[in-house]
Amino acid sequence: MTSKIKTSIMEVYSSKRSSPICSSNAGIFCWLFLSHHSRLKGVINMLRGVAGAPGIAIGRAFVFRPEQLEFERKSISSRDVDQELVKLQHALRQAHQELSSIYARALSDLGRDRAGTFHAQIMILEDATFESELINVIRSGVNVEGAVGEVVTSYVNIFEDSRDEYLRERAADYRDVGCRLLRILLGQSWTPVPRLKEEAIVVARDLSAPDSLQLDRSRILGLATESGGRTSTACILARSLEIPAVVGLGRFVHKVQSGDLLIVDGSKGTVIINPNEATVAEYRHRRETYLACRKELQMLSDLPAETRDGYRVQLLANIDHPGEVTSALAQGAEGVGLFRTEHLFLGRDTMPSEDEQFAVYVQVVQKTGGRCVVIRTLDYAGPSSPFFQSMHYEPNPFLGCRGIRLNLNFEEIFKVQIKAILRAGAYGKVKVMFPLISRVEDLRRAKDMLQQAQLELEQEGKKFDPRMEVGLLVEVPSAALTAELFAPEIDFYNIGTNDLVQYTLAVDRTSARVNPLHQALHPAVLRLVKNVIDAARNSGKCVAMCGEMAGEPLATLLLLGLGLQQFSAAAGSLPEIKKVIRAVTLREAREVAHRALQLSAPEEVRRYLEQEMKSRRLYF
Ligand code: PEP
Ligand code: MG
Repeated sequence: MTSKIKTSIMEVYSSKRSSPICSSNAGIFCWLFLSHHSRLKGVINMLRGVAGAPGIAIGRAFVFRPEQLEFERKSISSRDVDQELVKLQHALRQAHQELSSIYARALSDLGRDRAGTFHAQIMILEDATFESELINVIRSGVNVEGAVGEVVTSYVNIFEDSRDEYLRERAADYRDVGCRLLRILLGQSWTPVPRLKEEAIVVARDLSAPDSLQLDRSRILGLATESGGRTSTACILARSLEIPAVVGLGRFVHKVQSGDLLIVDGSKGTVIINPNEATVAEYRHRRETYLACRKELQMLSDLPAETRDGYRVQLLANIDHPGEVTSALAQGAEGVGLFRTEHLFLGRDTMPSEDEQFAVYVQVVQKTGGRCVVIRTLDYAGPSSPFFQSMHYEPNPFLGCRGIRLNLNFEEIFKVQIKAILRAGAYGKVKVMFPLISRVEDLRRAKDMLQQAQLELEQEGKKFDPRMEVGLLVEVPSAALTAELFAPEIDFYNIGTNDLVQYTLAVDRTSARVNPLHQALHPAVLRLVKNVIDAARNSGKCVAMCGEMAGEPLATLLLLGLGLQQFSAAAGSLPEIKKVIRAVTLREAREVAHRALQLSAPEEVRRYLEQEMKSRRLYF
């Protein structure tokens, strides 16, 4: 019996797409946008997405619609099963060959980190479970194309529903693999993003990793895609090629024709379709200002982050991969203030071993050339991963077993990670930091584990740092309110405002709907930040901030005035932060902080800070 379901694979895979995804800093972007663009409030056809790569592009659209793959899902008789299995093996082999050659090319063109997505796709093809699921569906009486559609869709759905941006990106890997297999099975050739004949802004539903590889800096003015997050390959490449990009825009491609005029503001995460002349003029002006500003800021990279009266602070970079260190240093980072280690653990079936982790941490240490590196232990909130199998379903993972709770619940995994971090400490200035601490007991238990790990390393005769500094990531209001109680236990404080704002204001940081309420300038948040900085000062400990607020120029004067010593942010925002710091005296900053703390509403604080910035000609 044949059930004639004609299905477009692209439709199947995109049917579960959600509304635009917000990156953790989208609240701040949005909030800047509303003020900064007040004259543009009436602009229709303005879409908001995720600020993927900074800069402004104005140009004609090129709508990239890859050929749709249409396949038939058929029931087959037991006689046909073997033949379908042969077709499956052929498709798996050919897909493997294609991806291996793309991976080899990406390795030499882009380096190991950026080529990683192709490796991830090769691993999907090599995954015995994936293959046996395909075989089982075929044996149950479904043709090979139908089996690929079914199995791949089930993986895509699982990952796409995740709250974790990294896992959502894994959905894209499965989608790519599925399309590749179907294309081979249907005997079609790959349609890459065409080489553009003239400059254009590329508009697409999604850009697969191989498509992203085709990005041509000389012709592509900007990028706008319906899906994707800041860690998608398209975004990472766009940032490194300095192509402004907005991703995660939700369904919009049907509204755009090739040749339409577009404005892509990759700094604010907005796209305007067919703007009027006044808007184009405004954005041209803004683009020129942005480019002039970047040039000027680039010249600051070797100068210290020092106020006019000689007060020195440190600018550090937040990174997810060792590959980001070099460009961070070039943009003036004096070290790594937050190395998020989640990517080492996610999207794989086996735990990264101590040696594997050690190799990655040492790579970061070596690339930073002796500067400090703060490594945060695993912080993960989302669906269970193969090595956290015993973890129960969590109705609200953000209030569940994440951060230090996850670390302490899975002691063996935690210990392996700490041992790797301690060993990396023998090669440079490494500090360890524990996330989501809400009470002193958890910190003490984490430190006990640190001691145990040291003992084991000693017994194993491995080199490690016996005096590694320990930091508290303050991102839960209870820790911020009682910051002084932690002082005897730690060497430094680090304020994680992304979560601190989320938990203080009861605003889900991943929800597009409540995103405008994720306000770091809320008086409640400012009081908590002040409390932590004061506790650090009173106890003689260093205090840093690694939440997105630290990379927001509008907040720099305020944070400086409150006494923040280290600003740790995405490398791209460091030059702007430095410019603000170098433009003021510490006294002025203290005055600004004092006045900002008298205000009662986030909007008042924002307006006040804007005025202070404007009066110093410091608006970015
Ligand atoms: C934070 O919460 O501010 C932080 C830096 O951690 P993450 O964004 O990784 O949760
Ligand atoms: Mg956090």
